[in-house]
Amino acid sequence: MNDMTDIEILKIDTVSRHYGEGETRLDILKDTSLSMRKGEMVGLVAPSGTGKSTLLHLAGLLERPDGGDVLINGTSCGRLGDGDRTAIRRMEIGFVYQFHHLLPEFSALENVMMPQMIAGLSRAEAVERASQLLDYLRIGHRAEHRPAELSGGEQQRVAIARAVANAPLLLLADEPTGNLDPVTAHYVFDALEALVRQSGLAALIATHNHELAARMDRRVTLSEGRIVEV
Ligand code: ADP
Ligand code: MG
Repeated sequence: MNDMTDIEILKIDTVSRHYGEGETRLDILKDTSLSMRKGEMVGLVAPSGTGKSTLLHLAGLLERPDGGDVLINGTSCGRLGDGDRTAIRRMEIGFVYQFHHLLPEFSALENVMMPQMIAGLSRAEAVERASQLLDYLRIGHRAEHRPAELSGGEQQRVAIARAVANAPLLLLADEPTGNLDPVTAHYVFDALEALVRQSGLAALIATHNHELAARMDRRVTLSEGRIVEV
């Protein structure tokens, strides 16, 4: 019998992805696989241009592989239509990017409320959950501020809060601290790690920061189109 920790939240199953055709064809991922269990934090450390963002887009159902399949919590997503894929993405997957992509005309609190309102929660429920998350990430006192009034580290913490607002199973982060100075990067990563550990979600985090990668449960890299444990 499987216990909870054996559940595969993400399964990349012999996935291939290429761009272009003929002489300009680039094989970014070649028949490669990766599994992540509940509560696992995996660092994706590989040079620029090797396919980290491509892998995260495939894992997040933003792109479709040319071959193979992506399973989210056991659900094969390969043959699902766009509507079902969008529903899974909204409910089960959170994204954090290098740049925060917060909506500039809304407050930090409203930015975190937005995905919950879209998911159908009441305004009161969304306010409560958003406030709790901002407090947890120690930016509760900045809740009423717009993104432009926040520091880079604060903006990223709001973006992290927004990514987990709907309590996803999987967090995908594409160089989330890549735009921050080293001290702020550590501070933001501390917040991210605490949140992942507390919520038990699985997190795949692309980073160039080896110190941060060393703190994760596992590290993988991309080599000649394959995902390899390091
Ligand atoms: P990384 O995130 O590791 O820097 P990417 O996944 O962004 O790498 O890109 C991997 C390779 O695929 C790069 O050589 C990039 O130029 C190429 N690439 C990415 N997206 C496209 C696209 N839509 N069309 C053509 N080539 C692309
Ligand atoms: Mg990238």
